[in-house]
Parts: sequence; C-alpha cells; structure tokens
Amino acid sequence: MSVKQSNIQLPKGRFAPSPSGRMHLGNVYAALMSWLSVKTSGGEWVLRIEDLDPGRSRREYAELIEDDLRWLGLNWDEGGLENRGSRGPYCQSLRDEVYRRYFSELAEKGLLYRCSCRRADILATQAPHQSDGRIVYSGRCRPAVEPPFHEIETGQSGAIRLWVPDRDIRFEDMVAGEQTFNLARDCGDFVVRRSDGAWAYQLAVVVDDALMGITEVVRGDDLLLSTAQQIYIYRLLGFEPPRFGHFPLLCNEAGQRLSKRDGALSMEVLRNSHKPEQIIGRVARLAKLIDRDEPLSTEELLQECITKYGRRTGAIFSK
Ligand code: GLU
Repeated sequence: MSVKQSNIQLPKGRFAPSPSGRMHLGNVYAALMSWLSVKTSGGEWVLRIEDLDPGRSRREYAELIEDDLRWLGLNWDEGGLENRGSRGPYCQSLRDEVYRRYFSELAEKGLLYRCSCRRADILATQAPHQSDGRIVYSGRCRPAVEPPFHEIETGQSGAIRLWVPDRDIRFEDMVAGEQTFNLARDCGDFVVRRSDGAWAYQLAVVVDDALMGITEVVRGDDLLLSTAQQIYIYRLLGFEPPRFGHFPLLCNEAGQRLSKRDGALSMEVLRNSHKPEQIIGRVARLAKLIDRDEPLSTEELLQECITKYGRRTGAIFSK
C-alpha cells in the first residue's frame, strides 16, 4: 500500500528592510502584511538585510530593526544578522560573489552595456510625459546595434545597464490584480551595477529571493514597476518568479503616504508611548484587517485572520 505524499508547498515569504534608518509605521505595515500572508497558512518568514548601499546602510540600524520586530512580535524563522538558516548569508553586503555570478550570466547573454551618463544627464533627457517623478532612461549610451553586446570592458568607470525589450510584461498580482508594463516605455534599460561598483537592488533582490526559496513577495504598491523589472530578470536567469502581492501604502489622516519624514511615526517615538499591541492594532485597523480600535498581539491578529479568511495561502489578500 502506498502512502500518498502531499505536494502542497508551504509558502515562504520575506521582509527585506534596508538598514538606512529606524523603522516607521509604514515599514511595520509591510512587515506585518508579509508575515500574516505566510503565517495564515503555516509558512515561513525570512528576514533579509538589504545593506547593498555602503554609504547609507548601518549595522546599528539593522540591529534596531531586529529589536523592533521582536518587540512587535514579528519573529522570523530564517535569516537576520545571526544568519539563521542554510541559504545565507542573509545580509546582502556579504553576498558579493553570488551577485557576481549572475551578473556574469547576464553579461554572457550579451545584454549588458556600460553607461557613462550622470544623473543630471538622465534627468535632462527624461521624456516630458514622465510627470510622476519616474525616470525613463533615454538610451543615450545604448549600443547602436541590437544585442548581443560583447565586451563591457572592465576597468572603466560608469554604471552597467541591462537592455530591455519593447514588449509587454504581464503578471497577476494577489492584491492589485492584473498588471501590464512595457519596460522600454516605463523605465528603459536599467542599472544592475552602479558606477561605484555596488550591485543594484533589482539584480540582488531577484537572485536572493530565488536562491532563498521565496514563494511569495508581499510589499507596498510603490514597487509594482520594479516587479516587472524583476520578472524580466527572473526569466533571463531561468528562475521561476514567486507570487506577488502589492498592497496600497498607508496614508495618514490627511491622505498623504506615510514616510520616514513623519518623525512621530518612527519606532523610536512610538515605542516610548505605546505597547506593541497598540501599534499592531492600529496598523491592522489602517490596513482594514479589523474594523475596530483595539490593541492586539500579532498572534491574536493571526488567529483572527485565520478565523475570518481561512487557512489559504495569501487568502487575506485575494479579492
Ligand atoms: N530593501 C527594499 C526596501 O526596503 C526591499 C523592497 C522589497 O521588498 O523588495 O524598500
């Protein structure tokens, strides 16, 4: 008699903060939503420290982020500064060799070229219709021929860009629904290695999510376009993209997006005058997960979400 094996794969999510400052309420929201999304179906949650930018990242901030998460009751199963787990290291600053390997793969495909534009040049050549602050690269340094490009001569200065096709990229978002982007129109060829040698977020995040076995990425909807860029890289590198869920960013009472500039919403200030349950309750209310003002722990909120929405992967985000 054979025992039928269950093929159900438990979800694995992640929170990937950049340690460039103290967490604020918007980051708590991002952490809570990705935690709930996997925990409602018994999945695992990874903490990855995105300290790629040596100028802005500080270890003290990473330590404070961890302390704030623990204090809130958002515990991770894998990752963090202590590198718990077998797919580390979990700090991007320690993963240089990994990024180099996949960067070389893109170079071998002939899709990379060197760009000497400075930021000011890019802004000056920005398409006039880009009124929302997004920068579309004009292609000033793009080779005149079609790829494959060879020789992105080493030793020269400049950033390295990834060539993008003029073609639609579609994906079904768990929260935002069907999405279509055309990278040539929406962002142009984008940077995968900065002129100072630092790996760009778009490359690192794909390589890490893929190698760390992340099955669902839940984050704010300011990263929808980035998702299209990332899906393009997933396909080039032969990785299966995870499921994505992008939720609307939290707004204050005046309808403005919360940001690090709202000092009063920093965990530093919030922790002086609140209990963790009050903060979780407030975020859950703002996120419309509960419809009352009530302090509650992450475990209580989790149980409530399971009762209300059931134990289905990503259930709380599906329409
Ligand atoms: N480090 C990025 C940030 O803090 C992560 C974004 C993502 O979740 O992919 O914005």
